[in-house]
Amino acid sequence: MDDPLLRELQRFHDDYFPRHQQRFQDLVAQGQHPTTLFIGCSDSRLVPYLLTGAGPGELFMVRNVGAFVPPYDGSQGLHGTMAAIEFAVLNLEVAHIVVCGHSHCGAIRAAYDGVPEQAVALRAWLKLASDAVLPVRPSPEALRRTEQRAVELQLQRLMDYPMVRERVDAGRLALHGWHYVIESGEVHVFDAEQGGFVPAAQATSSGTGPYLPWVEPPTPFAGA
Ligand SMILES: [Zn+2]
Repeated sequence: MDDPLLRELQRFHDDYFPRHQQRFQDLVAQGQHPTTLFIGCSDSRLVPYLLTGAGPGELFMVRNVGAFVPPYDGSQGLHGTMAAIEFAVLNLEVAHIVVCGHSHCGAIRAAYDGVPEQAVALRAWLKLASDAVLPVRPSPEALRRTEQRAVELQLQRLMDYPMVRERVDAGRLALHGWHYVIESGEVHVFDAEQGGFVPAAQATSSGTGPYLPWVEPPTPFAGA
C-alpha cells in the first residue's frame, strides 16, 4: 500500500537528514537556543521557514487559528498559546516575538460570517479578533484591514504579559507584527512610528517602531 506520508518520512530520513545530521546532533548536544518566537496562523499557506529562511533550531513556533494571543490572566488554565509564550520568554529568553497573520485568513472571515453551530471552541476563540472587526460589509479591503488590525491587537495583548512587557521596556525583546500577502509573496510589517503596515521592501525595520530591530540569528542555518 502506498502511503504518501510514510513515503515522505522515509525521504526525510534518507535524503534530508544525512545532509544536515551534524546540525541536528549539535542541537541535541547543546540544546535549542532559538532567538525568535513565531506566533502564526495555522493556515497551510503560511510557511514560516520559507518566509524567514530559518532552519532547525531557529524558530520556536506556536500556531493557532488566526495567530491570536489570548488575554493574560495569570491563571493556571490549560492554554497552549499562553504556555508557549511563557516558555519562549522565560526559559528560552527569545529576543523577538513575531505575530504573523495573512491575507485570505479564514479566521478573520469567520469573525464576520460566523461558524457552524457545533464549533463551540472556535466561536469563543474568534472573539479574540472581535475588536478588530469593522462595522462594514466584509469587502476584500475590509478583510485585509481587519487581518492587519487583528495583528496589532495581538501585539497589544502580548504587552499585557508581564514577562513580555518587562523585557520590551528593558530593550531585551522586540515585537514584530507581520501580515503576509499570499498572492504577492510580500510581507507587510507593522511600523509603530507610522501607525500602520508597510511592505517589507519599504520598511526600515521588521520590528514595531521603538523596539529592537531584527537581528540575524547567531547561527544562520545554511538552508536545505
Ligand atoms: Zn489565517
